[in-house]
Amino acid sequence: MNSLRDYDIQYIKGVGPTRAKLLKKELGIASAYDLLRHFPGHYVDRSNIYRIADLQGDMPAVQLRGRFVSLTVAGEGAKRRLVGLFSDGTGTIEVLWFRSISAIQKAYHVGAEYILFGKPAFFEPTRRWSLSHPEVDIPGTVGAMQGLRGVYPLTEKLRNAGITSRTLHGWIQKALALRPNLAETLPPSTVADYRLMPLREALVTVHNPTDNARLQSARLRLKFEELFFIQTDIQRMARRRKQQSRGYVMKRVGTFFNRFYREVLPFDLTGAQKRVMHEIHADVGSGRQMNRLVQGDVGSGKTIVALMAMLLAIDNGAQACLMAPTEILATQHYTSLRGMVAPLGVNVRLLTGSTKKKERDEIHAGLLDGSVQLLVGTHALIEDTVQFRNLGMAVIDEQHRFGVAQRARLWKKAELPPHVLVMTATPIPRTLAMTVYGDLDVSVINELPPGRKPVETILRYEENRYDMYRALGRELRAGRQVYIVHPLIDENAKLDLRSLEEGHEAIREVFGQYYKIAFVHGRMKPDAKDRQMDDFVSGRARILVATTVIEVGVNVPNATVMVIENAERFGLSQLHQLRGRVGRGADKSYCILMTKHRIGADTRRRLELMTHTTDGFVIAEEDMKMRGPGDIEGTQQSGIAFDLHIASLARDGEIIQMARTAAERLLDADPDLSLPENRVFAHTLRLNTARTADWSRIS
Ligand code: ADP
Ligand code: MG
Repeated sequence: MNSLRDYDIQYIKGVGPTRAKLLKKELGIASAYDLLRHFPGHYVDRSNIYRIADLQGDMPAVQLRGRFVSLTVAGEGAKRRLVGLFSDGTGTIEVLWFRSISAIQKAYHVGAEYILFGKPAFFEPTRRWSLSHPEVDIPGTVGAMQGLRGVYPLTEKLRNAGITSRTLHGWIQKALALRPNLAETLPPSTVADYRLMPLREALVTVHNPTDNARLQSARLRLKFEELFFIQTDIQRMARRRKQQSRGYVMKRVGTFFNRFYREVLPFDLTGAQKRVMHEIHADVGSGRQMNRLVQGDVGSGKTIVALMAMLLAIDNGAQACLMAPTEILATQHYTSLRGMVAPLGVNVRLLTGSTKKKERDEIHAGLLDGSVQLLVGTHALIEDTVQFRNLGMAVIDEQHRFGVAQRARLWKKAELPPHVLVMTATPIPRTLAMTVYGDLDVSVINELPPGRKPVETILRYEENRYDMYRALGRELRAGRQVYIVHPLIDENAKLDLRSLEEGHEAIREVFGQYYKIAFVHGRMKPDAKDRQMDDFVSGRARILVATTVIEVGVNVPNATVMVIENAERFGLSQLHQLRGRVGRGADKSYCILMTKHRIGADTRRRLELMTHTTDGFVIAEEDMKMRGPGDIEGTQQSGIAFDLHIASLARDGEIIQMARTAAERLLDADPDLSLPENRVFAHTLRLNTARTADWSRIS
């Protein structure tokens, strides 16, 4: 198999150096090995012909059989296109070509019979189905294939270079022919236990399926393989860490912790908070370094848990720190933590980018001599100049803003690595957690403090904007505060900024004479931003118009309405996070999702999901299905190379579980993979994980 990794695709007949370069750039395919692992994104059943009258909803690519009624060129310049009206007797569909217009015009004729193959789209304004750049075959010719056929992912550039799904398929056949005896790479015991299809058979089948049952077995084998390599790697690393990493022993539950629990804590902990506290206590008493991820919806009370963990460290003579992603959040944490620990006599300080030199020096000295017990801050706190006397507990709030590499810098701050508690309100689907955080222990706070009223979420269209204003007016008159959030300024910076400013202007016109309005966006200077935020947090401003800078952590219990403009541009998890900003006080709260009327069916379904569930995990799963795990916050920085070609973290939960169990079994039997029968596997594992070597060092 290795030699296939070394076999440059340019030597595959028909590829050549230019196309090889393009394949490398566009799809990351450099070797014959890569080519064999470029799997069809989906399959189409080419024995099936659809009727135009039966097209509906969101369809995969389909085959239609009929004739062109007309073929005409329309539009000018960039809009120039060839439009064919294609009829099969049950209906008519529009066929569009934007490229190679004259060649296509010559090739196809009105009145002749064709088989078209492509993904139909429904165009609202004309209320008509259309196909863009379909594959066109003449019935009865070789091109019009029968049976199952893979459709390979391509990019625009490849298509423009004349490379089609069929071209790729041809090259893959040649790559398969290079090594007629592809040897198995998985451990024989695993192949036997799970009755997996052998490697060669699976590769041949996945590219040339004969029937659906065999195709599914082939795909199962290949998905399993991908996930199994990752799981084995993670498990091995986790085992090593558990064996090797010593950590502070913090068995003692002392005065700070106890007094806080008895005298300061103004409420009872929820069952979930207690459970997580026990888990943390067990970790830090074990003599090994804790690496724990605490997940819990916004408002589930993670901060209290973190504080108690930090007090535990202080009780055991160590220092603790809490790192937040933004200055606003760090300050808010500092203010509320100080309020809670001051009665106990804990020395807590705040360190951010804007801490003045004199104070900074003072803090540095206090950290070195141990008099500063608890440090709250932004990433300023992981700078090399910040040295602790003995940092025993590091809490990282909203970790998806902190990369793995940044986290690793904490390790250097002590002789023994500090215990690490990562807190996130971004719910991470279980399958993803098993993979991305497979080496971390995960706790979930799946219970909200009592008395919280769920936020009512409403979807409103642009036409009903004034209804929305009226609702805001009611809440404002009742003394409440309101957030109005616009999408983050991004690629379309100019456009976004304008719509944000227009939004601000509109709100000023409606409410400006009655209420103070704060206005915050990411392009403002930090101190101007802080002043505006301050106005809102203190209640002087009753309305906050903002981009998503307020996404994480801000706590204003008097705010009862969250309006999200252009809601369709947000990911679901992000909407869920934003929604968590309200509903923090005793009053009933609302989240109003504003969108234009013309949105796709999928988008509408997603937004509607928000109106009937408040379960962060359901939302995260859905988000992951829609956008793929690579886009879920946190995975980018996780350090895992998501080199998944066929398995999907969103859809293959069962196979992930299977691979995990199999990896455990294998490592129980052969912890360092040194048995002769596992030698090929161990070698392949090394090759596969070579690129991800970096992160194993870190956790
Ligand atoms: P998170 O960080 O998980 O979003 P916080 O820790 O900020 O949540 O808690 C949200 C609010 O709920 C805070 O005002 C906190 O004091 C309060 N709170 C936390 N735990 C409880 C509890 N067990 N009972 C009542 N209120 C709680
Ligand atoms: Mg929080």
